[in-house]
Amino acid sequence: MGKIYIIDVTNRDGVQTARLGLSKLEKTLVNIYLDEMGVFQSEFGFPTSRHESRYLQANLELVKMGVLKHIRLEGWIRATARDVETAFELVPNTTHLSLSISTSDQMIKGKFRGNKTRQDILEMMVEAVEAAKSLGAESIGVNAEDASRTGLDFLIKFGLAAKEHGADRLRYCDTLGYDNPFTIYTSVKRLAEEVGIAIELHCHNDLGMAVANSIAGAKGAIDGGQDAYINTTINGIGERAGNADLLATLLAVGKSKGFAEKYQLGEPIDLSPAWKIARFASYAFDVPIPINQPGVGANAFTHASGIHADGVLKDAANYELYSFEELGRGEPEFVETGREICTGQYSGISGFTHVMGRIMGEKAISFTSEAEARRVLELVRYANVESQKPLVEDELVFIAQYPDIAKKLLTLTPLNH
Ligand SMILES: [Zn+2]
Repeated sequence: MGKIYIIDVTNRDGVQTARLGLSKLEKTLVNIYLDEMGVFQSEFGFPTSRHESRYLQANLELVKMGVLKHIRLEGWIRATARDVETAFELVPNTTHLSLSISTSDQMIKGKFRGNKTRQDILEMMVEAVEAAKSLGAESIGVNAEDASRTGLDFLIKFGLAAKEHGADRLRYCDTLGYDNPFTIYTSVKRLAEEVGIAIELHCHNDLGMAVANSIAGAKGAIDGGQDAYINTTINGIGERAGNADLLATLLAVGKSKGFAEKYQLGEPIDLSPAWKIARFASYAFDVPIPINQPGVGANAFTHASGIHADGVLKDAANYELYSFEELGRGEPEFVETGREICTGQYSGISGFTHVMGRIMGEKAISFTSEAEARRVLELVRYANVESQKPLVEDELVFIAQYPDIAKKLLTLTPLNH
């Protein structure tokens, strides 16, 4: 019986979204939080983009150091042999790759302007897979962009060619959010049966069905005899109307009517960091969490009307499907309303020491010398240059704990090639 795994693509689809972005340190924190939850894989960036190189290398180092404990980090590139070579040039310790190419006639005609045929697409993809294999990629996912508008017969051919040359997974991209749960189920089940490869579901929310489609697609993959890998993003942030929301997807897998009796996660995922990760992404992207967001919206556990309030007071299960404690909610929050000292790119040692001194408990940092504090402060300044907003506690602690990694993340040297 196939299982469901989560591949979060916040650090790829999320950050390529118009008007939105994350600093390299924020992206690193996202990887750390996803790892803490037990997410299988993070699509952590673009190995062919030169400004990502040091960030990607530094995060792979965090894996080696055991700071990132279980999560696999996978880079996303176009499915061409040239891009694969560039990826390994810029990030030599690349281990996991997603190779993407358009498969629909609309895109083959509309993007390549008549210069490419379906046969060319197959050949480019196969060359890319072979290049990735020969350069030492441990796992390869092949992405069929616009799969939902691609003829199923061609998609099967595409999947079979990918599998034959050593790909581990086929990503079914509903790039435009065109599918519905019924169509994606049928397509993915047949793909799984006929190609015999694990299927990734990459669903967009243009018709408001990204989570529903992901779940239906996962059911299709498993009914077709394969594992399912669902692509998610934190708070559903992604191109246009966004992607399948990480938490809503996990709740749908675990809590929707009868689903988990047959369709289960391959590895347990801890939902208790859900509140923290949603809040962090909201702060880092500077996008508020909608009041009615599943699980983490301000109203997700709020009851006002007489019948509901009375019911929930008698027994929470009357009007709540899951508990706020499970999602790491419930702690009161204190907001400073008087004098506040925060960090910035022009901070000095006195203010910085004050801010670090406020961090209590197991995260508390004590510097052994003023020189050490000044070194960390300098890194904090640079981090602020990139993020343009005060760093959160976890970012400050990360810099203090791993200053060499932080330095790498923050080093950008444009036009040096
Ligand atoms: Zn996408």
